Amino acid sequence: MKILILPGDGIGPEIMTATVTALGALNDKCGLKLDFEQRAVGLPALEAEGSTLSDDLMGRIKATEGVVLGPCDTYAYPLPDEGGVNPSAATRKELDLFANIRPSRARPGVPALAPDMDLVIARENTEGFYADRNMFSGSGEFMPTEDVALAVRKITRQGSRRIAEAAFQLAERRRKKVTVVTKANVLKVSEGLFLSEVRDVAKAHLDIELTEVLIDAMAALLVRTPGAFDVVVTTNMYGDILSDEAAELSGGLGLGGSVNAGDDHAVAQAAHGSAPDIAEQGIANPVALMNSVALLLDWLGGRHGRDDLTGAAKRLDGAIDRVLEDPANHTPDLGGSAKTSQVGEAVVAEISK
Ligand code: NAD
Repeated sequence: MKILILPGDGIGPEIMTATVTALGALNDKCGLKLDFEQRAVGLPALEAEGSTLSDDLMGRIKATEGVVLGPCDTYAYPLPDEGGVNPSAATRKELDLFANIRPSRARPGVPALAPDMDLVIARENTEGFYADRNMFSGSGEFMPTEDVALAVRKITRQGSRRIAEAAFQLAERRRKKVTVVTKANVLKVSEGLFLSEVRDVAKAHLDIELTEVLIDAMAALLVRTPGAFDVVVTTNMYGDILSDEAAELSGGLGLGGSVNAGDDHAVAQAAHGSAPDIAEQGIANPVALMNSVALLLDWLGGRHGRDDLTGAAKRLDGAIDRVLEDPANHTPDLGGSAKTSQVGEAVVAEISK
Protein backbone atom coordinates (compact mmCIF):
# COMPACT_ATOMS: atom_id res chain seq x y z
CA MET A 1 0.00 0.00 0.00
CA LYS A 2 1.33 3.41 -1.02
CA ILE A 3 1.48 6.31 1.45
CA LEU A 4 2.05 9.77 0.00
CA ILE A 5 4.12 12.09 2.20
CA LEU A 6 3.65 15.84 1.72
CA PRO A 7 5.73 17.82 4.26
CA GLY A 8 4.15 21.27 3.71
CA ASP A 9 5.28 24.63 5.09
CA GLY A 10 6.78 26.14 8.25
CA ILE A 11 7.33 23.40 10.83
CA GLY A 12 5.97 20.84 8.33
CA PRO A 13 9.33 19.39 7.16
CA GLU A 14 10.60 19.06 10.77
CA ILE A 15 7.55 17.30 12.19
CA MET A 16 7.18 15.21 9.02
CA THR A 17 10.76 13.88 9.29
CA ALA A 18 10.13 12.74 12.88
CA THR A 19 6.74 11.28 11.95
CA VAL A 20 7.95 9.40 8.88
CA THR A 21 10.83 7.96 10.91
CA ALA A 22 8.29 6.64 13.43
CA LEU A 23 6.04 5.35 10.64
CA GLY A 24 9.02 3.59 9.05
CA ALA A 25 9.81 1.86 12.35
CA LEU A 26 6.18 0.81 12.66
CA ASN A 27 6.21 -0.47 9.07
CA ASP A 28 9.23 -2.69 9.88
CA LYS A 29 8.04 -3.82 13.31
CA CYS A 30 4.51 -4.74 12.20
CA GLY A 31 5.36 -5.91 8.66
CA LEU A 32 2.83 -3.50 7.16
CA LYS A 33 4.40 -3.45 3.66
CA LEU A 34 3.79 0.27 3.24
CA ASP A 35 5.63 2.10 0.43
CA PHE A 36 6.37 5.78 0.86
CA GLU A 37 6.50 8.43 -1.83
CA GLN A 38 7.42 12.02 -0.93
CA ARG A 39 6.44 15.11 -2.93
CA ALA A 40 6.66 18.86 -2.32
CA VAL A 41 3.48 20.79 -1.53
CA GLY A 42 2.90 24.40 -0.51
CA LEU A 43 5.54 27.14 -0.73
CA PRO A 44 8.41 24.83 -1.82
CA ALA A 45 6.19 23.53 -4.64
CA LEU A 46 5.22 27.09 -5.61
CA GLU A 47 8.90 27.96 -6.00
CA ALA A 48 9.77 24.80 -7.94
CA GLU A 49 6.64 24.30 -10.06
CA GLY A 50 4.68 27.59 -9.94
CA SER A 51 1.83 26.14 -7.90
CA THR A 52 1.40 25.17 -4.23
CA LEU A 53 -0.62 22.19 -5.48
CA SER A 54 -0.13 21.24 -9.14
CA ASP A 55 -2.67 19.23 -11.16
CA ASP A 56 -0.07 16.48 -11.37
CA LEU A 57 0.25 16.29 -7.59
CA MET A 58 -3.53 16.30 -7.18
CA GLY A 59 -3.56 13.32 -9.56
CA ARG A 60 -1.06 11.48 -7.32
CA ILE A 61 -3.13 12.32 -4.24
CA LYS A 62 -6.27 10.93 -5.89
CA ALA A 63 -4.42 7.76 -6.88
CA THR A 64 -3.14 7.13 -3.35
CA GLU A 65 -5.35 5.76 -0.57
CA GLY A 66 -3.34 7.15 2.35
CA VAL A 67 -1.88 10.65 2.40
CA VAL A 68 0.04 12.43 5.17
CA LEU A 69 -0.19 16.19 4.63
CA GLY A 70 1.87 18.67 6.63
CA PRO A 71 0.57 22.09 7.67
CA CYS A 72 0.16 24.71 4.95
CA ASP A 73 0.95 28.39 5.47
CA THR A 74 -2.08 29.43 3.46
CA TYR A 75 -2.02 32.97 4.84
CA ALA A 76 1.26 33.50 2.97
CA TYR A 77 0.00 32.03 -0.34
CA PRO A 78 -0.70 34.25 -3.35
CA LEU A 79 -4.14 34.21 -4.97
CA PRO A 80 -5.18 30.97 -6.74
CA ASP A 81 -4.57 32.42 -10.23
CA GLU A 82 -0.99 33.16 -9.12
CA GLY A 83 -0.45 29.55 -7.99
CA GLY A 84 -1.69 29.78 -4.41
CA VAL A 85 -4.05 26.81 -4.10
CA ASN A 86 -4.99 25.81 -0.52
CA PRO A 87 -3.98 22.10 -0.40
CA SER A 88 -6.08 21.38 2.70
CA ALA A 89 -9.24 22.81 1.13
CA ALA A 90 -8.59 21.36 -2.33
CA THR A 91 -7.99 17.79 -1.11
CA ARG A 92 -11.07 17.88 1.14
CA LYS A 93 -13.19 19.07 -1.77
CA GLU A 94 -11.73 16.96 -4.60
CA LEU A 95 -11.60 13.72 -2.59
CA ASP A 96 -14.91 14.46 -0.83
CA LEU A 97 -13.32 14.03 2.61
CA PHE A 98 -16.51 14.83 4.46
CA ALA A 99 -15.52 13.75 7.97
CA ASN A 100 -12.79 15.52 9.90
CA ILE A 101 -12.14 13.44 13.00
CA ARG A 102 -10.25 15.26 15.76
CA PRO A 103 -9.71 13.50 19.10
CA SER A 104 -8.47 15.32 22.21
CA ARG A 105 -7.31 13.18 25.10
CA ALA A 106 -5.29 14.31 28.11
CA ARG A 107 -2.22 12.06 28.20
CA PRO A 108 -0.53 10.73 31.34
CA GLY A 109 2.39 12.94 32.34
CA VAL A 110 1.35 15.91 30.20
CA PRO A 111 0.19 19.01 32.09
CA ALA A 112 -3.40 19.67 30.96
CA LEU A 113 -5.99 22.29 31.88
CA ALA A 114 -8.59 19.52 31.42
CA PRO A 115 -6.99 16.32 32.77
CA ASP A 116 -10.21 14.32 32.36
CA MET A 117 -10.80 15.25 28.71
CA ASP A 118 -11.23 12.31 26.31
CA LEU A 119 -13.43 13.32 23.39
CA VAL A 120 -13.58 13.21 19.61
CA ILE A 121 -14.92 16.00 17.45
CA ALA A 122 -16.60 14.85 14.24
CA ARG A 123 -16.52 17.98 12.10
CA GLU A 124 -18.40 18.30 8.81
CA ASN A 125 -15.60 19.04 6.38
CA THR A 126 -16.97 20.04 2.98
CA GLU A 127 -19.58 22.77 3.41
CA GLY A 128 -20.73 25.13 6.18
CA PHE A 129 -19.11 28.57 6.54
CA TYR A 130 -16.06 27.69 4.41
CA ALA A 131 -17.13 29.62 1.34
CA ASP A 132 -13.83 29.03 -0.45
CA ARG A 133 -14.73 25.35 -0.95
CA ASN A 134 -18.46 24.92 -0.50
CA MET A 135 -19.56 25.68 -4.08
CA PHE A 136 -19.51 23.31 -7.07
CA SER A 137 -17.91 26.05 -9.13
CA GLY A 138 -16.51 29.43 -8.11
CA SER A 139 -16.31 30.87 -4.63
CA GLY A 140 -19.13 31.43 -2.18
CA GLU A 141 -17.29 34.53 -0.99
CA PHE A 142 -17.65 37.59 -3.22
CA MET A 143 -17.99 41.39 -3.37
CA PRO A 144 -21.07 42.76 -5.17
CA THR A 145 -19.62 46.28 -4.75
CA GLU A 146 -16.27 47.52 -3.47
CA ASP A 147 -17.86 48.21 -0.06
CA VAL A 148 -19.82 44.99 0.40
CA ALA A 149 -18.35 41.54 1.07
CA LEU A 150 -20.63 38.48 1.27
CA ALA A 151 -19.97 34.85 2.16
CA VAL A 152 -22.53 32.12 1.53
CA ARG A 153 -22.87 29.30 4.03
CA LYS A 154 -24.09 25.94 2.75
CA ILE A 155 -25.76 23.17 4.75
CA THR A 156 -27.19 20.15 2.92
CA ARG A 157 -29.31 17.27 4.13
CA GLN A 158 -26.89 14.71 2.66
CA GLY A 159 -23.79 16.44 4.09
CA SER A 160 -25.38 16.67 7.53
CA ARG A 161 -26.55 13.09 7.45
CA ARG A 162 -23.23 11.51 6.56
CA ILE A 163 -21.28 13.33 9.29
CA ALA A 164 -24.04 12.41 11.76
CA GLU A 165 -23.69 8.75 10.74
CA ALA A 166 -19.90 8.94 11.13
CA ALA A 167 -20.34 10.44 14.61
CA PHE A 168 -22.76 7.75 15.77
CA GLN A 169 -20.49 5.01 14.39
CA LEU A 170 -17.64 6.52 16.40
CA ALA A 171 -19.79 6.64 19.53
CA GLU A 172 -20.64 2.94 19.08
CA ARG A 173 -16.91 2.22 19.51
CA ARG A 174 -16.57 4.59 22.49
CA ARG A 175 -18.69 5.67 25.48
CA LYS A 176 -21.97 5.86 23.54
CA LYS A 177 -22.61 9.58 23.95
CA VAL A 178 -23.06 12.13 21.15
CA THR A 179 -23.30 15.88 21.65
CA VAL A 180 -24.59 17.87 18.67
CA VAL A 181 -23.43 21.49 18.63
CA THR A 182 -25.36 24.08 16.61
CA LYS A 183 -26.67 27.65 16.67
CA ALA A 184 -30.16 26.42 15.82
CA ASN A 185 -31.74 29.03 18.10
CA VAL A 186 -30.66 31.76 15.63
CA LEU A 187 -29.94 30.07 12.28
CA LYS A 188 -33.16 28.12 12.46
CA VAL A 189 -33.27 27.02 8.81
CA SER A 190 -29.67 25.95 8.13
CA GLU A 191 -28.69 24.80 11.63
CA GLY A 192 -32.17 23.38 11.96
CA LEU A 193 -31.58 21.17 8.90
CA PHE A 194 -28.28 19.91 10.35
CA LEU A 195 -29.90 19.23 13.71
CA SER A 196 -32.90 17.44 12.22
CA GLU A 197 -30.59 15.01 10.37
CA VAL A 198 -28.60 14.30 13.54
CA ARG A 199 -31.85 13.64 15.43
CA ASP A 200 -33.01 11.34 12.65
CA VAL A 201 -29.77 9.33 12.62
CA ALA A 202 -30.03 9.04 16.43
CA LYS A 203 -33.28 7.07 15.99
CA ALA A 204 -31.24 4.20 14.54
CA HIS A 205 -28.89 4.24 17.57
CA LEU A 206 -31.17 4.03 20.59
CA ASP A 207 -28.28 2.82 22.76
CA ILE A 208 -26.54 6.16 22.27
CA GLU A 209 -27.41 9.20 24.34
CA LEU A 210 -27.85 12.39 22.27
CA THR A 211 -27.41 15.82 23.90
CA GLU A 212 -28.01 19.13 22.12
CA VAL A 213 -25.82 22.14 23.01
CA LEU A 214 -25.55 25.62 21.46
CA ILE A 215 -22.11 26.63 20.18
CA ASP A 216 -21.61 29.56 22.56
CA ALA A 217 -22.48 27.42 25.58
CA MET A 218 -20.23 24.64 24.24
CA ALA A 219 -17.21 26.96 24.22
CA ALA A 220 -17.77 27.43 27.97
CA LEU A 221 -18.74 23.85 28.79
CA LEU A 222 -15.55 22.48 27.23
CA VAL A 223 -13.72 24.43 29.94
CA ARG A 224 -16.20 23.78 32.78
CA THR A 225 -17.01 20.07 32.29
CA PRO A 226 -14.52 18.73 29.72
CA GLY A 227 -14.90 15.15 30.94
CA ALA A 228 -18.61 15.14 30.12
CA PHE A 229 -18.11 14.83 26.35
CA ASP A 230 -17.51 11.74 24.26
CA VAL A 231 -18.30 12.37 20.56
CA VAL A 232 -19.13 15.92 19.47
CA VAL A 233 -20.71 16.39 16.04
CA THR A 234 -20.89 19.81 14.47
CA THR A 235 -20.61 21.90 11.31
CA ASN A 236 -17.37 22.92 9.64
CA MET A 237 -16.28 26.17 11.30
CA TYR A 238 -17.58 25.36 14.80
CA GLY A 239 -15.68 22.06 14.61
CA ASP A 240 -12.50 23.83 13.53
CA ILE A 241 -12.64 26.29 16.43
CA LEU A 242 -13.81 23.84 19.11
CA SER A 243 -11.11 21.33 18.16
CA ASP A 244 -8.33 23.89 18.72
CA GLU A 245 -9.93 24.74 22.08
CA ALA A 246 -10.17 21.04 23.01
CA ALA A 247 -6.58 20.34 21.90
CA GLU A 248 -5.29 23.23 24.00
CA LEU A 249 -7.28 22.12 27.06
CA SER A 250 -6.04 18.55 26.74
CA GLY A 251 -2.38 19.60 26.72
CA GLY A 252 -1.66 21.80 23.72
CA LEU A 253 -2.14 22.43 20.01
CA GLY A 254 1.00 20.39 19.36
CA LEU A 255 -0.90 17.24 20.38
CA GLY A 256 -4.03 17.69 18.23
CA GLY A 257 -4.23 14.87 15.70
CA SER A 258 -6.75 14.83 12.88
CA VAL A 259 -7.78 12.77 9.89
CA ASN A 260 -9.90 13.90 6.94
CA ALA A 261 -11.86 10.91 5.75
CA GLY A 262 -14.25 10.16 2.91
CA ASP A 263 -15.62 6.90 1.58
CA ASP A 264 -12.49 5.96 -0.41
CA HIS A 265 -9.68 8.26 0.73
CA ALA A 266 -8.20 9.65 3.92
CA VAL A 267 -5.66 12.39 4.57
CA ALA A 268 -3.84 12.63 7.89
CA GLN A 269 -3.16 16.24 8.83
CA ALA A 270 -2.51 17.77 12.25
CA ALA A 271 -5.15 20.19 13.50
CA HIS A 272 -2.58 22.97 13.94
CA GLY A 273 -1.07 25.24 11.28
CA SER A 274 2.46 25.84 10.01
CA ALA A 275 3.56 27.68 13.20
CA PRO A 276 5.85 30.17 11.39
CA ASP A 277 6.86 31.64 14.76
CA ILE A 278 8.85 28.50 15.66
CA ALA A 279 9.72 27.12 12.20
CA GLU A 280 13.25 25.88 11.46
CA GLN A 281 14.22 25.81 15.15
CA GLY A 282 13.80 22.05 15.62
CA ILE A 283 11.49 22.56 18.61
CA ALA A 284 8.03 21.89 17.13
CA ASN A 285 6.01 19.10 18.67
CA PRO A 286 5.62 16.23 16.16
CA VAL A 287 3.01 14.41 18.26
CA ALA A 288 -0.04 15.98 16.57
CA LEU A 289 1.12 14.70 13.19
CA MET A 290 2.00 11.30 14.66
CA ASN A 291 -1.46 11.10 16.21
CA SER A 292 -2.90 11.98 12.80
CA VAL A 293 -0.96 9.10 11.25
CA ALA A 294 -2.35 6.74 13.92
CA LEU A 295 -5.86 7.87 12.94
CA LEU A 296 -5.04 7.29 9.27
CA LEU A 297 -3.75 3.76 9.95
CA ASP A 298 -6.89 3.00 11.95
CA TRP A 299 -9.06 4.26 9.07
CA LEU A 300 -7.07 2.27 6.47
CA GLY A 301 -7.34 -0.84 8.67
CA GLY A 302 -11.12 -0.52 8.82
CA ARG A 303 -11.46 0.32 5.12
CA HIS A 304 -9.36 -2.64 3.94
CA GLY A 305 -10.20 -5.11 6.70
CA ARG A 306 -6.53 -5.15 7.73
CA ASP A 307 -6.12 -5.86 11.43
CA ASP A 308 -2.36 -5.30 11.15
CA LEU A 309 -2.96 -1.62 10.29
CA THR A 310 -5.49 -1.22 13.11
CA GLY A 311 -3.01 -2.87 15.50
CA ALA A 312 -0.20 -0.61 14.27
CA ALA A 313 -2.39 2.43 15.00
CA LYS A 314 -2.82 1.22 18.59
CA ARG A 315 0.91 0.51 18.90
CA LEU A 316 1.76 4.04 17.74
CA ASP A 317 -0.79 5.59 20.12
CA GLY A 318 0.60 3.55 23.03
CA ALA A 319 4.19 4.48 22.13
CA ILE A 320 3.24 8.17 22.15
CA ASP A 321 1.62 7.75 25.58
CA ARG A 322 4.74 6.17 27.05
CA VAL A 323 7.05 8.78 25.50
CA LEU A 324 4.98 11.67 26.84
CA GLU A 325 4.92 10.18 30.34
CA ASP A 326 8.56 11.30 30.63
CA PRO A 327 8.81 15.13 30.90
CA ALA A 328 12.30 14.88 29.35
CA ASN A 329 10.47 14.21 26.06
CA HIS A 330 8.32 17.34 26.26
CA THR A 331 8.92 20.01 23.61
CA PRO A 332 8.75 23.71 24.69
CA ASP A 333 4.99 23.97 23.93
CA LEU A 334 4.48 21.40 26.73
CA GLY A 335 6.86 23.25 29.07
CA GLY A 336 9.95 21.14 28.30
CA SER A 337 13.11 21.59 26.27
CA ALA A 338 13.09 18.48 24.05
CA LYS A 339 13.83 18.81 20.34
CA THR A 340 11.51 17.53 17.61
CA SER A 341 14.07 14.89 16.62
CA GLN A 342 14.41 13.65 20.21
CA VAL A 343 10.67 12.99 20.44
CA GLY A 344 10.85 11.14 17.12
CA GLU A 345 13.73 8.97 18.34
CA ALA A 346 11.93 8.22 21.62
CA VAL A 347 8.79 7.09 19.75
CA VAL A 348 10.89 4.89 17.45
CA ALA A 349 12.55 3.31 20.52
CA GLU A 350 9.13 2.57 22.08
CA ILE A 351 7.77 1.11 18.83
CA SER A 352 10.82 -1.12 18.45
CA LYS A 353 10.56 -2.64 21.97
P1 NAD B 1 -0.76 27.69 14.14
O1 NAD B 1 -1.59 26.52 14.50
O2 NAD B 1 0.25 27.49 13.07
O3 NAD B 1 0.00 28.24 15.43
C1 NAD B 1 -0.70 28.71 16.60
C2 NAD B 1 0.25 28.62 17.81
O4 NAD B 1 0.46 27.24 18.16
C3 NAD B 1 1.66 29.18 17.51
O5 NAD B 1 2.15 29.81 18.68
C4 NAD B 1 2.48 27.95 17.20
O6 NAD B 1 3.86 28.09 17.50
C5 NAD B 1 1.83 26.89 18.09
N1 NAD B 1 1.94 25.55 17.50
C6 NAD B 1 1.20 25.04 16.47
N2 NAD B 1 1.60 23.81 16.18
C7 NAD B 1 2.60 23.51 17.03
C8 NAD B 1 3.42 22.36 17.22
N3 NAD B 1 3.29 21.24 16.46
N4 NAD B 1 4.37 22.40 18.18
C9 NAD B 1 4.51 23.48 18.95
N5 NAD B 1 3.76 24.59 18.85
C10 NAD B 1 2.82 24.61 17.89
O7 NAD B 1 -1.78 28.85 13.73
P2 NAD B 1 -1.51 30.27 13.03
O8 NAD B 1 -0.24 30.87 13.53
O9 NAD B 1 -2.77 31.00 13.21
O10 NAD B 1 -1.37 29.94 11.49
C11 NAD B 1 -0.12 29.84 10.79
C12 NAD B 1 -0.39 29.44 9.36
O11 NAD B 1 -0.96 28.10 9.34
C13 NAD B 1 -1.40 30.33 8.61
O12 NAD B 1 -0.96 30.49 7.28
C14 NAD B 1 -2.70 29.51 8.63
O13 NAD B 1 -3.52 29.82 7.52
C15 NAD B 1 -2.15 28.11 8.54
N6 NAD B 1 -3.03 27.05 9.07
C16 NAD B 1 -2.97 25.88 8.38
C17 NAD B 1 -3.68 24.79 8.85
C18 NAD B 1 -3.57 23.50 8.08
O14 NAD B 1 -2.72 23.40 7.21
N7 NAD B 1 -4.37 22.50 8.39
C19 NAD B 1 -4.45 24.88 10.01
C20 NAD B 1 -4.45 26.10 10.72
C21 NAD B 1 -3.73 27.18 10.23
